[in-house]
Amino acid sequence: MTIQQHPSPNHGSRYGWKPDRIVNHITAGSSAAGALAVLCDPAREVSAHFVVDKDGTVYQLVALDRAAWANGTSTTPSDSRYYGRSTLAAVRNRCTNANYYTISIEHVCVSGGELTAEQLAASIKLHRYIIAEVRRLYGVTIPVSREYIIGHCEINPVTKPNCPGAQFPYDAILEGLRQVEIRSDTSGTVSIKRGDFYTAKFSGTNANQLIVTAGTGDVVTIVPINRGADKLAAIVPIGKPGDASGIYTTVPGGAP
Ligand SMILES: [Zn+2]
Repeated sequence: MTIQQHPSPNHGSRYGWKPDRIVNHITAGSSAAGALAVLCDPAREVSAHFVVDKDGTVYQLVALDRAAWANGTSTTPSDSRYYGRSTLAAVRNRCTNANYYTISIEHVCVSGGELTAEQLAASIKLHRYIIAEVRRLYGVTIPVSREYIIGHCEINPVTKPNCPGAQFPYDAILEGLRQVEIRSDTSGTVSIKRGDFYTAKFSGTNANQLIVTAGTGDVVTIVPINRGADKLAAIVPIGKPGDASGIYTTVPGGAP
């Protein structure tokens, strides 16, 4: 995925908050150019971190360590954007501006939230990129769930009930994020002598989140080692000569 930089002057401090939620929006307009013009206009005082066009082009307007001005919540109870009106407990409990702890994606779409195939594919890649970058920058792992991959309407149900819209494909995005392609450097059967060990290496998207297990008990112990994006697993025999076990990988909360 290539990201086109299109900086906006509209952003602020996170005031010490770490981002842990991705908020999805629609532009309520038909062109990326129109959206970029509004989101980069200092007089409008609005922005988002990213805009995803219908053809899958991704624009970045605001750096991830800055707060975009996409879904600010008010601390005044009479305000229609009061945090206390959010449908999300986390937003209510934090009692502060939701821009501080969120990352916002605008999708070019007039209404309803349906995305083109190119746009959906780009948005899944972008969500994955954001999750990886937030982990790198802040040490925070954004869970792949609807509690953390959310819509503007859940933060502000009063004035933004239709952003990103009833057809917005949350489930397809979550499913896309859970699909992982893991490569192992080992295939077939490996013989390991007692007193020796073997290190298998798994790489691919989210490989370092893998859980490596043995199919048969009391044959091997497995020592997991995270090395960058890869997962290494030292496999140590503890059984009798001739014992054998399959080795399996699973992703927490995701597909095997
Ligand atoms: Zn919105």
